[in-house]
This record gives sequence, structure tokens and C-alpha cells, in this order.
Amino acid sequence: MRRKWVGGNWKMHGSRQMASRMTGAIVDAEIGDVEVALFPPFPYLREVCAASAGSKIAVGGQDASEHESGAYTGEVSAAMLKDVGCRLALAGHSERRQYHHESDDEVAAKVAQILANDLTAVLCVGETLREREDGRTAEVVSRQLRAVIDRCGITAFGRIVLAYEPVWAIGTGRTASPGQAQEVHALLRSHLGAGDARIGGSTRIVYGGSVKPGNAAELFAQPDIDGGLIGGACLESADFLAICAAAG
Ligand code: PEP
Repeated sequence: MRRKWVGGNWKMHGSRQMASRMTGAIVDAEIGDVEVALFPPFPYLREVCAASAGSKIAVGGQDASEHESGAYTGEVSAAMLKDVGCRLALAGHSERRQYHHESDDEVAAKVAQILANDLTAVLCVGETLREREDGRTAEVVSRQLRAVIDRCGITAFGRIVLAYEPVWAIGTGRTASPGQAQEVHALLRSHLGAGDARIGGSTRIVYGGSVKPGNAAELFAQPDIDGGLIGGACLESADFLAICAAAG
């Protein structure tokens, strides 16, 4: 039985005050048997790590450099994330792929750095609307997944949470139907299972794309959906906690 996982990606929102308030509200809440992770902007990581210290809430970076260290102005390394108390990092979020032109190979290199620093990687994959309309969803998500399997090996998925995030559903209010999401999750799981049956059965594959308190339970009830990566709805602690409750 896979334990459900819910992550809150704050994106470029918030303030120091919001970081302390939000984290406090989540730490104080009764969260059932679900793993919860928060991904605040880099400047607030220490705040959120401090406010969640000793709790079940894990903290992660929204990105990590593919390089270990060096002359890469503006980048943040996985080692730095670890140093300030993070336990995870996102890799390959569609906003990074789209606006920063991150390739599959770069994303795979980021995952390798994250894992090398003993952090859990949350690997995001997903197709654009155009790709879905062209019937290329399976090809695109399989290619994105394959790049990481080729670089890091299938057993690396013992420390990876895989997030299926259709780009057309992120921040648009348009959610994949439970059936549409389940179909892609099953495909991703079958790829993992073809590499290693145990990894196929144990990897958490979470859904992201306009998850709200009102649609979370139905999505999370699908056999291959193990929780969610939440954007907009994680900026209100009551909504985020309602989504965690739907997973618990
Ligand atoms: C995300 O940013 O990963 C996300 C899923 O955003 P939203 O929930 O707002 O669609």
C-alpha cells in the first residue's frame, strides 16, 4: 500500500509573514496518514524549515541546479537546499521547462544532483494542450520519464515522487478528469514496472493541475493516483488542509 503524498508549490507567491503563518497553520493541524511537503520560494526556505522543525511536514526547493557548485549566478544547488534543512526538491516543473527552456537531459541532470545530495526528487512530467490534442500525451510523458530512467537508473525511483502535471491544467482551473489522469498514471506506472516490478508498485505518482478541495477526493480515489502537487490551492491553508484530508 502506497502512502499518499501531498505537496504545496507556492511558486513565486508570499512573503516572510505569509511563510510563517501558513507553515504554522499546517504544522498545528491534525494531518492524517499522509506525507506533506511545502515548496516555498528560496528566500523563505529557512523560515519554513524553522517553523516546521520537529513536525511531520517536509520542506523542499522549487528547483535545484544541475551543477554541484561554481560560477552559475542565480542558481541554487541541491547541497545548499540540504544545508538549510530541505528534504526534497522539484525537478522539471512545466514552468521551468516552458519559461527556462529546460530540456529532458537537464531535468535528468537535476534529478541526479538532488539524489546525490540525499534529497527526494519530485519529478514533474506532463504534456501541453497542443500535444494532447495531437494525440502525443503518451509519447511526451514517456520521453520525459525515460530521460531520468536512462540517467539515474530505475532503482533511483525508490527516492523519487513522480508528478503527472498536464500543462493545460496548471493554474488554468481546468482539471484532468479522474479518468484522464488515471490513464496517464497507469501508463507511467507500467513504464516503471517494466524496468523493475517493485519500483512500479511502490513509486508514488501524484497528480497536479488545478486540484481543489472539491475535486481532490475523486482524483485521489483512482488506483494509480497517490496524492497531489498543489499550486494555487496551497496558498490558503484551509484549502490545502482540506486537500490533505482528502488524501488521508
Ligand atoms: C503546480 O504549480 O504544480 C500546480 C499544479 O498548480 P495549480 O494547482 O495551480 O494548477
